[in-house]
Amino acid sequence: MNRIYVDNAATTKIEDRVFEAMLPYLKEEYGNASSIYSLGKNAKSAIEKARVQVAKVLNCDTNEIIFTGSGTEANNMVLNCVKKGHIITSKIEHPAILETCKHLEKQGVKVTYINVDEDGTVDFDELKNSIREDTTLISIMFANNEIGTIQPIKEIGEFAKKHNILFHTDAVQAVGNIDIDVKKLNIDLLTLSAHKFNGPKGVGALYIKKGTKLTPFIHGGHQENNKRAGTENVAGIVGLGASIELAYKDISAHNKHLLSLRDYYFEQIKKRIPHIKINGHLKNRLPGNANISFRFIEGEGILLGLDQKGVCASSGSACTSGSLDPSHVLLAIGLSHELAHGSLRVTFGKYNTKEEVDYVVNELEMIIKNLRNMSPLYEKFLEEEK
Ligand code: PLP
Repeated sequence: MNRIYVDNAATTKIEDRVFEAMLPYLKEEYGNASSIYSLGKNAKSAIEKARVQVAKVLNCDTNEIIFTGSGTEANNMVLNCVKKGHIITSKIEHPAILETCKHLEKQGVKVTYINVDEDGTVDFDELKNSIREDTTLISIMFANNEIGTIQPIKEIGEFAKKHNILFHTDAVQAVGNIDIDVKKLNIDLLTLSAHKFNGPKGVGALYIKKGTKLTPFIHGGHQENNKRAGTENVAGIVGLGASIELAYKDISAHNKHLLSLRDYYFEQIKKRIPHIKINGHLKNRLPGNANISFRFIEGEGILLGLDQKGVCASSGSACTSGSLDPSHVLLAIGLSHELAHGSLRVTFGKYNTKEEVDYVVNELEMIIKNLRNMSPLYEKFLEEEK
């Protein structure tokens, strides 16, 4: 059975060219980037090349980029380094932000969690009204990992700048899928992660605008301009650099490819499966994201059925699957528990094809029919319809 991977928001398959670029740094070029002999210098210059590749994409200087061990680490670094006064964030952030905020609250930091509307867009008026004398940071994700909604980042950035408040965006889902210019968008801090754009897992980066004071989060050696101690993951960083460069070589074609698959998927599902709800903003959304609630059934049941047919998808965020609680994002956009439980996230990537969409839709149609035939909720619905 062929595997069909439509869970690209969870992670992506590594690109062959990225893998090839990394290999020497796992084998013969094993030097420590802090060593002064040539083997060390080779590692150092490979890291610096990756920094140039990232800086070019984000339109910033190379000394504004530091490499981290993940997107989660970069988010933790931002919040832990600020760690004073009042922080504004949203209710639909990734756990890497929300759980860190909860942890900081226990240490006396005040946090305001902004609501979102039914499309998942942050309530900008509420955000504006939430600032206080002691507000130190606004952290709003660029695009949501579950429903794909893209936030009004430019407007939030302008607002934060006007009020002299630091603005951080968790752009883990956006980088690799859409154009991002940190200067035009007034971003002070931005998180990204290589495994979301066909790079390796376990390596991320943080953009820190020149002049932004962040005390180290991980203490130790002098790596990464004294901002992130620890011997660098050279192969991972090389992979991040190569993958971001490849992702942006033809970002508009990539965008178009994902959009055509996503729109075709929506069209087919709407045509063939009744009682559904598309979650997230219809226009301001990541091109590859399709999150749909299927009424009367559980997302887990759909996932198991799809898995038996070789299809990898998700019923919510990768980090929350395995838990039976409904997704905090779907509840925040106002879904009932029933609709939240019946959600299926399909996220397309560069390797997906139209034939794969056809296969997934065909299988879904059957799986959903079967699950509904066994569903007491569906039976009740049919009774009431009579
Ligand atoms: N932020 C968002 C929006 C994400 O989707 C993820 C991963 O799913 C993360 C942060 C965490 O990134 P990483 O997997 O690199 O720790």
